[in-house]
Amino acid sequence: MSETAEVVIIGGGIVGSSVAYNLARQGCTDVVIIEREEKQGLGSTSKSMGGVRAQFATPINIQMSIYSIDFFSRFEEETGHTADYRAHGYLFAATTDAHLNYLRENQEKQRAFGLDNAVMVTRDEIVEMIPQLMADDIIGGSYCPTDGFVDPNSVLTGFSRSARERGVRLQLDTEVTGLSVEDGAIRGVKTNKGEIAANKVVNAAGPWAAGLAGMAGARLPVTPLRRQIVKTQRCDFLPAKFPMLIDMSTGFHFRREGDAILMAWPDDEETPGFKTAFTPEFIEKILIHAVNRVPQFADLGVNPHQCWAGMYEVSPDHHAIIGQDPGVRGLFYANGFSGHGVMHSPASGRIVADLILHGRCDVLDATPLGVERFAEGRLLEETAVL
Ligand SMILES: Cc1cc2nc3c(=O)[nH]c(=O)nc-3n(C[C@H](O)[C@H](O)[C@H](O)COP(=O)(O)OP(=O)(O)OC[C@H]3O[C@@H](n4cnc5c(N)ncnc54)[C@H](O)[C@@H]3O)c2cc1C
Repeated sequence: MSETAEVVIIGGGIVGSSVAYNLARQGCTDVVIIEREEKQGLGSTSKSMGGVRAQFATPINIQMSIYSIDFFSRFEEETGHTADYRAHGYLFAATTDAHLNYLRENQEKQRAFGLDNAVMVTRDEIVEMIPQLMADDIIGGSYCPTDGFVDPNSVLTGFSRSARERGVRLQLDTEVTGLSVEDGAIRGVKTNKGEIAANKVVNAAGPWAAGLAGMAGARLPVTPLRRQIVKTQRCDFLPAKFPMLIDMSTGFHFRREGDAILMAWPDDEETPGFKTAFTPEFIEKILIHAVNRVPQFADLGVNPHQCWAGMYEVSPDHHAIIGQDPGVRGLFYANGFSGHGVMHSPASGRIVADLILHGRCDVLDATPLGVERFAEGRLLEETAVL
Protein backbone atom coordinates (compact mmCIF):
# COMPACT_ATOMS: atom_id res chain seq x y z
CA MET A 1 0.00 0.00 0.00
CA SER A 2 1.31 3.43 -0.87
CA GLU A 3 -1.30 6.15 -1.02
CA THR A 4 -1.85 9.81 -0.28
CA ALA A 5 -4.40 11.71 1.72
CA GLU A 6 -4.99 15.30 2.69
CA VAL A 7 -5.34 14.32 6.33
CA VAL A 8 -4.47 11.12 8.20
CA ILE A 9 -6.08 10.59 11.60
CA ILE A 10 -4.31 8.12 13.88
CA GLY A 11 -6.87 6.43 16.14
CA GLY A 12 -10.48 5.54 15.40
CA GLY A 13 -11.89 6.24 18.87
CA ILE A 14 -14.52 8.85 19.62
CA VAL A 15 -12.06 11.73 19.22
CA GLY A 16 -10.54 10.64 15.89
CA SER A 17 -14.05 9.95 14.59
CA SER A 18 -15.24 13.41 15.62
CA VAL A 19 -12.26 15.05 13.89
CA ALA A 20 -13.09 13.05 10.73
CA TYR A 21 -16.77 14.05 10.91
CA ASN A 22 -15.94 17.72 11.41
CA LEU A 23 -13.50 17.71 8.48
CA ALA A 24 -15.96 15.95 6.19
CA ARG A 25 -18.82 18.24 7.19
CA GLN A 26 -16.74 21.14 5.94
CA GLY A 27 -16.01 19.40 2.64
CA CYS A 28 -12.61 17.90 3.46
CA THR A 29 -13.15 14.24 2.63
CA ASP A 30 -9.70 13.11 1.43
CA VAL A 31 -9.18 11.79 4.93
CA VAL A 32 -8.06 8.38 6.23
CA ILE A 33 -8.64 7.13 9.77
CA ILE A 34 -6.06 4.51 10.79
CA GLU A 35 -7.13 2.16 13.58
CA ARG A 36 -4.99 -0.77 14.65
CA GLU A 37 -7.83 -2.82 16.14
CA GLU A 38 -10.23 -4.86 14.04
CA LYS A 39 -13.08 -2.58 15.11
CA GLN A 40 -13.44 0.93 16.45
CA GLY A 41 -13.93 1.83 20.11
CA LEU A 42 -11.74 -0.82 21.73
CA GLY A 43 -9.50 1.83 23.36
CA SER A 44 -10.80 4.12 26.10
CA THR A 45 -14.04 5.03 24.36
CA SER A 46 -15.96 1.85 25.13
CA LYS A 47 -14.70 1.92 28.75
CA SER A 48 -16.20 5.32 29.49
CA MET A 49 -18.99 5.95 31.97
CA GLY A 50 -20.57 8.23 29.36
CA GLY A 51 -20.96 11.20 31.71
CA VAL A 52 -21.35 14.68 30.19
CA ARG A 53 -21.33 17.82 32.29
CA ALA A 54 -20.77 21.54 32.01
CA GLN A 55 -20.15 22.02 35.74
CA PHE A 56 -16.42 22.72 35.44
CA ALA A 57 -14.10 25.28 36.99
CA THR A 58 -12.19 26.69 34.00
CA PRO A 59 -13.53 28.78 31.10
CA ILE A 60 -12.21 26.45 28.40
CA ASN A 61 -13.76 23.32 29.94
CA ILE A 62 -17.07 25.12 30.53
CA GLN A 63 -17.11 26.39 26.93
CA MET A 64 -16.18 23.01 25.44
CA SER A 65 -18.96 21.38 27.46
CA ILE A 66 -21.61 23.92 26.49
CA TYR A 67 -20.71 23.45 22.80
CA SER A 68 -20.65 19.66 23.15
CA ILE A 69 -23.84 19.21 25.18
CA ASP A 70 -25.73 21.41 22.75
CA PHE A 71 -24.33 19.23 19.95
CA PHE A 72 -25.36 16.01 21.74
CA SER A 73 -28.90 17.38 22.06
CA ARG A 74 -28.99 17.76 18.24
CA PHE A 75 -26.79 14.76 17.45
CA GLU A 76 -29.35 12.82 15.44
CA GLU A 77 -30.27 15.88 13.36
CA GLU A 78 -26.59 16.56 12.70
CA THR A 79 -25.29 13.04 12.04
CA GLY A 80 -28.38 10.93 11.35
CA HIS A 81 -27.51 8.65 14.27
CA THR A 82 -28.41 8.60 17.96
CA ALA A 83 -26.11 9.72 20.80
CA ASP A 84 -28.58 8.41 23.42
CA TYR A 85 -28.16 11.72 25.28
CA ARG A 86 -30.05 11.58 28.57
CA ALA A 87 -30.34 14.94 30.36
CA HIS A 88 -30.61 13.43 33.84
CA GLY A 89 -28.28 16.00 35.40
CA TYR A 90 -25.14 15.95 37.56
CA LEU A 91 -25.55 16.55 41.29
CA PHE A 92 -22.49 17.48 43.37
CA ALA A 93 -23.10 16.89 47.09
CA ALA A 94 -20.90 18.85 49.54
CA THR A 95 -20.19 17.96 53.15
CA THR A 96 -17.87 20.89 54.00
CA ASP A 97 -18.15 24.67 53.71
CA ALA A 98 -14.97 24.66 51.61
CA HIS A 99 -16.60 22.38 49.03
CA LEU A 100 -19.85 24.33 49.06
CA ASN A 101 -18.01 27.62 48.51
CA TYR A 102 -16.03 26.00 45.74
CA LEU A 103 -19.29 24.96 44.00
CA ARG A 104 -20.66 28.51 44.43
CA GLU A 105 -17.54 30.06 42.93
CA ASN A 106 -17.62 27.61 40.06
CA GLN A 107 -21.23 28.53 39.36
CA GLU A 108 -20.29 32.19 39.04
CA LYS A 109 -17.67 31.24 36.46
CA GLN A 110 -20.12 28.92 34.71
CA ARG A 111 -22.67 31.73 34.46
CA ALA A 112 -20.04 34.16 33.19
CA PHE A 113 -19.23 31.74 30.37
CA GLY A 114 -22.82 31.10 29.34
CA LEU A 115 -24.17 28.24 31.47
CA ASP A 116 -27.38 29.64 32.91
CA ASN A 117 -29.14 26.60 34.35
CA ALA A 118 -26.75 25.28 37.04
CA VAL A 119 -28.18 25.99 40.50
CA MET A 120 -27.19 25.57 44.14
CA VAL A 121 -29.40 23.06 45.95
CA THR A 122 -30.17 22.37 49.62
CA ARG A 123 -29.83 19.04 51.40
CA ASP A 124 -33.64 18.62 51.23
CA GLU A 125 -33.61 19.17 47.47
CA ILE A 126 -30.80 16.62 47.11
CA VAL A 127 -32.72 14.06 49.15
CA GLU A 128 -35.81 14.73 47.08
CA MET A 129 -33.87 13.68 43.97
CA ILE A 130 -32.33 10.60 45.64
CA PRO A 131 -34.28 9.70 48.81
CA GLN A 132 -32.05 6.68 49.59
CA LEU A 133 -28.98 8.86 50.28
CA MET A 134 -27.49 8.92 53.77
CA ALA A 135 -27.50 12.71 53.87
CA ASP A 136 -26.88 13.66 57.53
CA ASP A 137 -23.49 15.19 56.68
CA ILE A 138 -24.54 16.78 53.36
CA ILE A 139 -24.87 20.57 53.65
CA GLY A 140 -25.87 21.39 50.06
CA GLY A 141 -24.67 21.04 46.54
CA SER A 142 -24.98 22.06 42.92
CA TYR A 143 -27.11 20.66 40.13
CA CYS A 144 -27.32 21.18 36.39
CA PRO A 145 -30.26 19.52 34.59
CA THR A 146 -28.67 19.48 31.12
CA ASP A 147 -25.66 17.50 32.34
CA GLY A 148 -26.21 13.76 32.00
CA PHE A 149 -25.03 10.82 29.94
CA VAL A 150 -24.51 9.67 26.36
CA ASP A 151 -23.74 6.27 24.94
CA PRO A 152 -20.05 6.55 23.90
CA ASN A 153 -20.24 3.77 21.31
CA SER A 154 -23.31 5.34 19.69
CA VAL A 155 -21.58 8.71 19.49
CA LEU A 156 -18.46 7.13 17.98
CA THR A 157 -20.62 5.25 15.47
CA GLY A 158 -22.55 8.40 14.57
CA PHE A 159 -19.42 10.44 13.92
CA SER A 160 -17.66 7.65 12.06
CA ARG A 161 -20.58 6.58 9.83
CA SER A 162 -21.48 10.12 8.99
CA ALA A 163 -17.85 10.86 8.06
CA ARG A 164 -17.66 7.72 5.90
CA GLU A 165 -20.99 8.50 4.22
CA ARG A 166 -19.27 11.70 3.07
CA GLY A 167 -16.20 9.88 1.72
CA VAL A 168 -13.75 9.50 4.63
CA ARG A 169 -11.83 6.17 4.47
CA LEU A 170 -11.39 3.93 7.51
CA GLN A 171 -8.53 1.43 7.69
CA LEU A 172 -8.97 -1.09 10.47
CA ASP A 173 -6.37 -3.63 11.57
CA THR A 174 -3.63 -1.18 10.59
CA GLU A 175 -1.01 0.01 13.04
CA VAL A 176 0.94 3.24 12.67
CA THR A 177 4.58 2.30 13.24
CA GLY A 178 6.33 5.55 12.32
CA LEU A 179 5.87 9.16 11.25
CA SER A 180 7.83 10.80 8.43
CA VAL A 181 9.13 14.27 9.20
CA GLU A 182 11.21 16.42 6.84
CA ASP A 183 12.45 19.96 7.46
CA GLY A 184 10.25 20.32 10.55
CA ALA A 185 7.07 19.26 8.73
CA ILE A 186 5.08 16.03 8.75
CA ARG A 187 5.13 14.15 5.43
CA GLY A 188 3.13 11.04 6.22
CA VAL A 189 2.66 7.93 8.31
CA LYS A 190 4.24 4.49 8.12
CA THR A 191 2.03 1.55 8.95
CA ASN A 192 2.42 -2.21 9.11
CA LYS A 193 0.58 -2.26 5.75
CA GLY A 194 2.49 0.46 3.93
CA GLU A 195 2.91 4.22 3.87
CA ILE A 196 0.46 7.07 3.45
CA ALA A 197 1.79 10.45 2.38
CA ALA A 198 0.01 13.39 4.04
CA ASN A 199 0.93 16.91 5.11
CA LYS A 200 -1.60 16.91 7.94
CA VAL A 201 -1.63 14.17 10.57
CA VAL A 202 -3.85 14.10 13.64
CA ASN A 203 -2.74 12.25 16.75
CA ALA A 204 -5.98 10.88 18.24
CA ALA A 205 -4.35 7.83 19.81
CA GLY A 206 -5.89 8.23 23.29
CA PRO A 207 -3.73 6.77 26.08
CA TRP A 208 -1.07 5.81 23.50
CA ALA A 209 -0.66 9.39 22.24
CA ALA A 210 2.76 10.10 23.81
CA GLY A 211 4.32 7.17 21.94
CA LEU A 212 2.87 8.41 18.65
CA ALA A 213 4.23 11.94 19.21
CA GLY A 214 7.60 10.38 20.04
CA MET A 215 7.67 8.85 16.54
CA ALA A 216 7.96 12.42 15.23
CA GLY A 217 10.59 13.33 17.81
CA ALA A 218 8.02 15.41 19.74
CA ARG A 219 7.25 15.33 23.45
CA LEU A 220 3.62 15.02 24.46
CA PRO A 221 2.98 14.73 28.22
CA VAL A 222 0.11 12.22 28.23
CA THR A 223 0.14 9.40 30.76
CA PRO A 224 -2.20 6.38 30.92
CA LEU A 225 -3.94 5.88 34.27
CA ARG A 226 -6.29 2.98 34.99
CA ARG A 227 -9.85 3.73 36.10
CA GLN A 228 -12.31 1.04 37.10
CA ILE A 229 -16.09 0.84 36.85
CA VAL A 230 -18.30 -1.36 39.01
CA LYS A 231 -21.63 -2.37 37.55
CA THR A 232 -24.17 -3.74 40.03
CA GLN A 233 -26.87 -6.27 39.44
CA ARG A 234 -30.47 -5.11 39.09
CA CYS A 235 -31.28 -2.24 41.44
CA ASP A 236 -34.95 -1.56 42.20
CA PHE A 237 -34.66 0.63 45.27
CA LEU A 238 -33.23 3.74 43.57
CA PRO A 239 -35.42 5.94 41.33
CA ALA A 240 -35.73 5.03 37.65
CA LYS A 241 -34.27 8.43 36.80
CA PHE A 242 -31.84 10.40 38.95
CA PRO A 243 -28.74 12.54 38.32
CA MET A 244 -25.14 11.38 38.46
CA LEU A 245 -24.40 11.85 42.17
CA ILE A 246 -20.88 13.00 43.07
CA ASP A 247 -20.02 12.61 46.73
CA MET A 248 -17.42 15.34 47.15
CA SER A 249 -16.21 13.92 50.47
CA THR A 250 -14.71 10.87 48.70
CA GLY A 251 -15.03 11.38 44.93
CA PHE A 252 -17.37 8.35 44.79
CA HIS A 253 -19.98 8.80 42.05
CA PHE A 254 -22.78 6.69 40.64
CA ARG A 255 -25.58 6.72 38.11
CA ARG A 256 -28.25 4.43 36.74
CA GLU A 257 -27.70 2.47 33.51
CA GLY A 258 -30.86 0.53 32.65
CA ASP A 259 -31.65 -1.82 35.55
CA ALA A 260 -28.17 -1.53 37.05
CA ILE A 261 -26.03 1.09 38.77
CA LEU A 262 -22.59 2.16 37.53
CA MET A 263 -20.16 3.19 40.27
CA ALA A 264 -16.77 4.89 39.98
CA TRP A 265 -14.21 6.29 42.37
CA PRO A 266 -10.74 7.76 41.82
CA ASP A 267 -8.46 5.34 43.70
CA ASP A 268 -5.42 7.39 44.70
CA GLU A 269 -3.38 4.20 45.10
CA GLU A 270 -3.58 3.66 41.32
CA THR A 271 -0.27 4.22 39.50
CA PRO A 272 0.31 5.24 35.85
CA GLY A 273 0.78 2.51 33.24
CA PHE A 274 -0.90 0.59 30.45
CA LYS A 275 -3.20 -1.45 32.71
CA THR A 276 -6.64 -2.53 31.61
CA ALA A 277 -7.41 -5.56 33.81
CA PHE A 278 -10.22 -5.12 36.32
CA THR A 279 -9.10 -6.01 39.86
CA PRO A 280 -11.86 -7.64 41.95
CA GLU A 281 -10.35 -6.08 45.13
CA PHE A 282 -11.55 -2.74 43.77
CA ILE A 283 -15.14 -3.83 44.50
CA GLU A 284 -14.43 -4.01 48.23
CA LYS A 285 -12.72 -0.63 48.17
CA ILE A 286 -15.49 1.18 46.33
CA LEU A 287 -18.29 -0.48 48.30
CA ILE A 288 -17.03 1.11 51.51
CA HIS A 289 -17.75 4.56 50.06
CA ALA A 290 -20.89 3.36 48.31
CA VAL A 291 -22.49 1.88 51.43
CA ASN A 292 -21.58 4.93 53.53
CA ARG A 293 -23.56 7.08 51.11
CA VAL A 294 -26.39 4.64 50.25
CA PRO A 295 -26.68 1.93 52.94
CA GLN A 296 -28.91 -0.25 50.70
CA PHE A 297 -25.94 -0.76 48.37
CA ALA A 298 -24.80 -3.36 50.94
CA ASP A 299 -27.61 -5.66 49.72
CA LEU A 300 -26.85 -5.27 46.02
CA GLY A 301 -24.96 -7.99 44.15
CA VAL A 302 -21.92 -7.24 42.02
CA ASN A 303 -20.62 -9.66 39.41
CA PRO A 304 -16.90 -8.91 38.77
CA HIS A 305 -17.32 -10.17 35.20
CA GLN A 306 -19.68 -7.27 34.48
CA CYS A 307 -17.19 -4.71 35.81
CA TRP A 308 -14.39 -3.26 33.73
CA ALA A 309 -11.28 -1.10 33.65
CA GLY A 310 -9.86 1.29 31.09
CA MET A 311 -7.35 4.10 30.92
CA TYR A 312 -7.67 7.84 31.34
CA GLU A 313 -5.17 9.73 29.17
CA VAL A 314 -3.91 12.23 31.70
CA SER A 315 -2.14 15.54 31.01
CA PRO A 316 -0.18 17.38 33.72
CA ASP A 317 -2.97 19.95 34.28
CA HIS A 318 -5.92 17.65 33.55
CA HIS A 319 -6.88 19.61 30.45
CA ALA A 320 -6.91 18.45 26.86
CA ILE A 321 -3.92 19.12 24.60
CA ILE A 322 -5.24 20.44 21.30
CA GLY A 323 -3.40 22.15 18.47
CA GLN A 324 -0.38 21.91 16.20
CA ASP A 325 3.00 20.81 17.51
CA PRO A 326 5.26 23.88 17.65
CA GLY A 327 8.21 21.92 16.22
CA VAL A 328 6.50 19.65 13.65
CA ARG A 329 4.32 21.52 11.17
CA GLY A 330 1.19 19.61 10.23
CA LEU A 331 1.16 17.36 13.32
CA PHE A 332 -2.03 18.10 15.26
CA TYR A 333 -2.91 16.87 18.73
CA ALA A 334 -6.33 15.89 20.06
CA ASN A 335 -5.12 14.30 23.27
CA GLY A 336 -4.83 14.34 27.05
CA PHE A 337 -8.54 14.58 27.85
CA SER A 338 -7.97 13.37 31.40
CA GLY A 339 -11.34 11.65 31.73
CA HIS A 340 -13.42 14.06 29.62
CA GLY A 341 -12.77 12.84 26.08
CA VAL A 342 -16.27 11.53 25.47
CA MET A 343 -18.08 14.62 26.72
CA HIS A 344 -15.73 16.97 24.87
CA SER A 345 -15.57 14.98 21.63
CA PRO A 346 -17.88 17.29 19.63
CA ALA A 347 -15.89 20.39 20.63
CA SER A 348 -12.45 18.85 20.17
CA GLY A 349 -13.32 17.48 16.72
CA ARG A 350 -14.60 20.89 15.67
CA ILE A 351 -11.53 22.73 16.98
CA VAL A 352 -9.02 20.38 15.32
CA ALA A 353 -10.89 20.43 12.00
CA ASP A 354 -11.03 24.23 12.04
CA LEU A 355 -7.34 24.51 12.90
CA ILE A 356 -6.47 22.21 10.00
CA LEU A 357 -8.75 23.89 7.47
CA HIS A 358 -8.65 27.56 8.55
CA GLY A 359 -5.66 27.87 10.88
CA ARG A 360 -7.96 28.96 13.71
CA CYS A 361 -11.27 28.11 15.36
CA ASP A 362 -13.67 31.04 15.74
CA VAL A 363 -16.32 29.04 17.58
CA LEU A 364 -14.05 28.00 20.47
CA ASP A 365 -10.70 29.61 21.14
CA ALA A 366 -8.54 26.67 22.15
CA THR A 367 -5.27 28.59 22.26
CA PRO A 368 -4.90 27.85 26.00
CA LEU A 369 -4.85 24.11 25.16
CA GLY A 370 -1.69 24.21 23.01
CA VAL A 371 1.06 21.78 24.02
CA GLU A 372 3.53 24.69 24.31
CA ARG A 373 1.83 25.69 27.59
CA PHE A 374 3.86 23.06 29.45
CA ALA A 375 7.23 24.38 28.26
CA GLU A 376 6.08 27.95 28.86
CA GLY A 377 4.72 27.20 32.35
CA ARG A 378 1.14 28.33 31.49
CA LEU A 379 -0.64 25.37 33.06
CA LEU A 380 -4.41 25.50 33.51
CA GLU A 381 -5.93 24.55 36.81
CA GLU A 382 -9.04 22.38 36.76
CA THR A 383 -10.07 21.34 40.22
CA ALA A 384 -13.38 19.77 39.22
CA VAL A 385 -11.69 16.52 38.14
CA LEU A 386 -13.38 13.14 38.54
C1 LIG B 1 -13.33 3.94 33.28
C2 LIG B 1 -13.42 5.18 32.45
C3 LIG B 1 -14.50 6.04 32.61
C4 LIG B 1 -14.59 7.20 31.85
N1 LIG B 1 -15.69 8.00 31.99
C5 LIG B 1 -15.81 9.11 31.23
C6 LIG B 1 -16.97 9.92 31.31
O1 LIG B 1 -17.87 9.66 32.11
N2 LIG B 1 -17.06 10.99 30.49
C7 LIG B 1 -16.07 11.31 29.59
O2 LIG B 1 -16.20 12.30 28.89
N3 LIG B 1 -14.97 10.55 29.48
C8 LIG B 1 -14.81 9.47 30.27
N4 LIG B 1 -13.70 8.70 30.17
C9 LIG B 1 -12.60 9.12 29.27
C10 LIG B 1 -12.92 8.80 27.84
O3 LIG B 1 -13.26 7.44 27.72
C11 LIG B 1 -11.69 9.13 26.98
O4 LIG B 1 -11.23 10.44 27.26
C12 LIG B 1 -12.03 9.04 25.49
O5 LIG B 1 -12.62 7.81 25.18
C13 LIG B 1 -10.80 9.26 24.65
O6 LIG B 1 -11.14 8.96 23.31
P1 LIG B 1 -10.02 8.81 22.23
O7 LIG B 1 -10.69 8.61 20.93
O8 LIG B 1 -9.05 9.93 22.37
O9 LIG B 1 -9.19 7.51 22.69
P2 LIG B 1 -9.48 5.96 22.42
O10 LIG B 1 -10.90 5.62 22.49
O11 LIG B 1 -8.53 5.22 23.30
O12 LIG B 1 -9.04 5.80 20.91
C14 LIG B 1 -7.69 5.81 20.53
C15 LIG B 1 -7.54 4.78 19.44
O13 LIG B 1 -6.23 4.87 18.91
C16 LIG B 1 -5.85 3.57 18.50
N5 LIG B 1 -4.40 3.54 18.38
C17 LIG B 1 -3.49 3.77 19.35
N6 LIG B 1 -2.24 3.64 18.85
C18 LIG B 1 -2.37 3.36 17.53
C19 LIG B 1 -1.44 3.11 16.48
N7 LIG B 1 -0.13 3.13 16.67
N8 LIG B 1 -1.93 2.85 15.25
C20 LIG B 1 -3.27 2.83 15.00
N9 LIG B 1 -4.19 3.04 15.98
C21 LIG B 1 -3.75 3.30 17.22
C22 LIG B 1 -6.37 2.70 19.62
O14 LIG B 1 -6.53 1.35 19.21
C23 LIG B 1 -7.70 3.37 19.95
O15 LIG B 1 -8.79 2.76 19.31
C24 LIG B 1 -13.57 7.52 30.91
C25 LIG B 1 -12.51 6.66 30.73
C26 LIG B 1 -12.42 5.49 31.49
C27 LIG B 1 -11.26 4.57 31.28
